[in-house]
Amino acid sequence: MSPRRHKVPPLPIGCYKSILDYTFDGVNYVDGKRRILYWNKGAETMTGYRAEEVLGHACYRDSGMCHINDEGERLCGRLCPLLDAISTKRERVNRVYLRHKDGRRIPVDAVSSPVYDEDGEAIGVVQVFRDATVYEEAERKSQVIAKLATTDALTGLLNRRTIDIELEIEFKRATRLKLPMAVIFCDIDHFKDINDKHGHAIGDEVLKGMAKLLQGGIREYDRAGRYGGEEFLVMLPETKVEIAVEIAERLRRSVDVWRLIHREKHWPFQVTMSFGVSEMRQDATWEDLVKRADQAMYKAKRSGRNAVFVS
Ligand code: GH3
Ligand code: MG
Ligand code: MG
Repeated sequence: MSPRRHKVPPLPIGCYKSILDYTFDGVNYVDGKRRILYWNKGAETMTGYRAEEVLGHACYRDSGMCHINDEGERLCGRLCPLLDAISTKRERVNRVYLRHKDGRRIPVDAVSSPVYDEDGEAIGVVQVFRDATVYEEAERKSQVIAKLATTDALTGLLNRRTIDIELEIEFKRATRLKLPMAVIFCDIDHFKDINDKHGHAIGDEVLKGMAKLLQGGIREYDRAGRYGGEEFLVMLPETKVEIAVEIAERLRRSVDVWRLIHREKHWPFQVTMSFGVSEMRQDATWEDLVKRADQAMYKAKRSGRNAVFVS
C-alpha cells in the first residue's frame, strides 16, 4: 500500500513575505535601476540599516553600504554584481565587503540571481547574502597553517619536505614533456666558524641573508628551499645544465660580495658558498638528481670551496 499523501493547501500570499522576512540570511530585491524594493529582517540585522531607511533608494548611490571587493575596489560602478547578473542573465556568486551602519566592514557571500518578466527579460535581481566573517577567519587560519607547514620559519624559503614534493612533481612533468630540468645544491662554507666567532644569532642573520640572495637571484617559476641547517636547494625547471651553471656562478658571486648589515651595524666578514649543479636524466629519479648535485657540491668543497661544480 502506498503511503497516504496529504494535500498541502497553498500558503496565503502574505505568508511568503513572512517566510522571507524571517529567513536568517539577508534577502533583498532591486529593480533594473538598482532601486531597493525589498529588504528583509536578515538584511537589517546584518547591515544595521532598517527597511525604511533603504527602500526606494538606489543601492549604488544612496546607501552607505558602499560594497567593495577583496582588493578594495568599489563595486558600485562597472564591477557591480547586480548589473552583471541583469546584463548576462546569469547567477553571480561573490565575496563582497559591505559597510555596516556602524562603520565596520563586513565580508558577505552574496548570490545575485536575475528575475525575469513574462517575456524572459531580466527586470531585477534578488540577492541573498550571508555574513562570511567566520568563513573568512577560518580561511585566514588555514592559510597561516599552510604557510607554517610548507616554509622554513627562519628564512621563509620552502622547507625540505615541500621542496621535495615540488621536485617530484616537476620531475614527472619534465619526464612527460621531455623537458630539461636542473638543480643547484649549495652549502655555506665554514659556517660553524661564523657561529663560533660571532654567535648563533649572527649565524641566523647570515642564513636569512643567503636565503634572500638565492630567492632574489632566480626566476619566479624556480624554487628555492632550505634543505638542512646551512644547505639550500634551488630547483630550475626547463633549464639546461649550462644555464644552471651560469645561474649558480651568478649566485656564487653575489654571495661573495655580500656583507652583513644587522641592527645598523656593519659586519665586514665575508661569506662564501659551495655549489653543485646537476641535470635530470630521463632514466633516473629525482632523488638521483639531488644526490648528484650534492656530490658535485662536495667536489666544490674539496677543491677549496667558493666554487661551482657539475655532476
Ligand atoms: P663546510 O665548509 O665544510 O660546509 O663547513 P661548515 O662549518 O659549514 O659545516 P658543518 O657541517 O661543520 O657546520 C654546519 C653548522 O651549521 C653547524 C651548525 O651548528 C650550524 N647550523 C645549522 N643550523 C643552524 C641554524 O639554524 N642557525 C645557526 N646559526 N646555525 C646553524
Ligand atoms: Mg657548510
Ligand atoms: Mg652542511
